[in-house]
Amino acid sequence: MENEFSSIDKLLKLLKENKISVTEISKHFIDKIKKSEIKAFIHFNEDNILDNAKKLDDLKSKGTFKRIHGIPIGVKDLFCTKNIRTTAGSKILKNFIPTYESTVTSNLLNEGALFVGKTNLDEFAMGSSTTTSYFGSTINPCSKDKNKKLVAGGSSGGSAAAVSANLCLGATGTDTGGSIRQPASFCGVIGIKPTYGLCSRWGIIAFASSLDQAGVFSNNVKDASILLEIMAGYDNKDSTSANIKIPEYSKNLSSNIKGKKIGIPKEYDTENIPEDIKINWMNSKDYLQKNGAEIISISLPHTKFALPTYYILAPAEASSNLARYDGVKYGFRSKINDSLDAMYEVTRNEGFGAEVKRRILIGTYVLSAGYYEAYYLKAQKIRSLISNDFKEAFNKCDAILTPTSPSEAFPIGEKEDDPIKMYLNDIFTVPASLAGLPGISIPFGNSNNGLPLGIQIIGRHFDEQTILNISNNLEETI
Ligand code: GLN
Repeated sequence: MENEFSSIDKLLKLLKENKISVTEISKHFIDKIKKSEIKAFIHFNEDNILDNAKKLDDLKSKGTFKRIHGIPIGVKDLFCTKNIRTTAGSKILKNFIPTYESTVTSNLLNEGALFVGKTNLDEFAMGSSTTTSYFGSTINPCSKDKNKKLVAGGSSGGSAAAVSANLCLGATGTDTGGSIRQPASFCGVIGIKPTYGLCSRWGIIAFASSLDQAGVFSNNVKDASILLEIMAGYDNKDSTSANIKIPEYSKNLSSNIKGKKIGIPKEYDTENIPEDIKINWMNSKDYLQKNGAEIISISLPHTKFALPTYYILAPAEASSNLARYDGVKYGFRSKINDSLDAMYEVTRNEGFGAEVKRRILIGTYVLSAGYYEAYYLKAQKIRSLISNDFKEAFNKCDAILTPTSPSEAFPIGEKEDDPIKMYLNDIFTVPASLAGLPGISIPFGNSNNGLPLGIQIIGRHFDEQTILNISNNLEETI
């Protein structure tokens, strides 16, 4: 039966033919989640899942069958879910129960999704390892050595790990600078970050609003296409939501890439990339060429400034977004209340973890009078140059091929001594984020240690279909 549980289409077929009920599906996944030791979920409520499964079975018996009826989905604990605790992986929100549902999760629920739990993440989505979560680290299910547990990547590590371990068929994630693509690469699953504005940000706890974007994890490209077309769509509650018609990605999915021009950015070929990652990247290029694509060398000259630019802009926006957590309206409040100022101060000091505090400090600094122009404004200007590089490149090619991450999954505890080491994980993902472009990570090849590696394909604005099609071609090849 395991095979039937590995794709949305197969499971929907079984349901339609009355060979299985949603309740039976839910029991299968509940059992797997309970036995799992990878700590992919922060919140998991068996009774809730069974209740919802029963409701979906009742609906079906009355003749209503939705597009993803009864499909088990994990939800990153950054999406507000009505009456279900939503923590952002932080102590400051450990008891926060939203009174509303995010647009993206509503869209999934409206089509019959069965939510199996809220997945773990780096605190407020700041990180590349899911080790900064107040609720502990998620373990990468691809870890080979019990004594050397590997990170799942981050910040959406819980979602990536849950899909990789088949604890659900798909999961939502968010990606500000790589948080879907990098964990997907570490856990050997597909992760797509759509164009900025494709999915509504309404009800997603904000990190850096000009970069945050919701997306999908899945085990195959078709499932990613199905989930994305359901999640996406215009929402007047998000002023940056794009008012476009969402294509039927799954229906239009094709693996024909004949004549597609695929760009290889020469600046990504630095000597700092490990040899196995470089070889794997070149292998993927060879496959695509053999399958009919035309390979073109392109230049993204400002790429080298992407990481420092991101690490000014994202903290700046975070420092502003996180100002609301002060113990007054909701969330954790310290018992120390000698004065209002003392209450604010101690609440934030006790409620936030070290990485979040670091970002708030950096962000406040780069926005402060005297430094604003030297840092924030300059970073904004470089962001435009980076976007222009991509515009130029897309005059020559239809998609860009890069490694997803400069490393394989690393052991939990590594890279914790120096934040820059952790930030370097984002070197290949951040440029597309700054330009608001869609990017997908597709599992391709293994590292010298036998761990999964990912290949990133970046597309033009709102051209998710092309990167899904190229991924589909690669998926069929491997
Ligand atoms: N790792 C990056 C950061 O820490 C990206 C995080 C994200 O995309 N949410 O900022």
